[in-house]
Amino acid sequence: MPDLRELYQEVILDHNRRPRNYHEIAGATRKSEGFNPLCGDRLTLYVALDGEVIREASFVGSGCAISKASASLLTEAVKGKTLAQAHEMLERFHHMVTLAPDKTEDFSDLGKLAVLAGVREFPVRVKCASLAWHTLKAALDVPGEAVTTE
Ligand code: ZN
Repeated sequence: MPDLRELYQEVILDHNRRPRNYHEIAGATRKSEGFNPLCGDRLTLYVALDGEVIREASFVGSGCAISKASASLLTEAVKGKTLAQAHEMLERFHHMVTLAPDKTEDFSDLGKLAVLAGVREFPVRVKCASLAWHTLKAALDVPGEAVTTE
């Protein structure tokens, strides 16, 4: 069995190379832009809502492997979720990446998103991993608002 870290690394590299849902959504219900000045990551997130349900989520942008992989994983994770579920996931993800490195907690409930747990050991990388989530929050809370993670 491969080392867990290697496996995580592999998932991140894969999503960076072949980002999922990497396109604009024509007629998106929500759209938000995010920028992480520390690293230069930029992305635009699109969400198509069907009532309270996220029917589609996608993104375009440029940035480091962590920011792209995180955005890619996010679009996969929130698809089909309700707004309440997406907010819950958002908070859980934030908790995961900001948990003190000396603490351990099981994040298997986050599924594939758990591959990003390792960023909490690198404070600068936390901004990269969180960018898509801050942008999602802005898209869901206030349509059309641009966010900067600081
Ligand atoms: Zn970055």
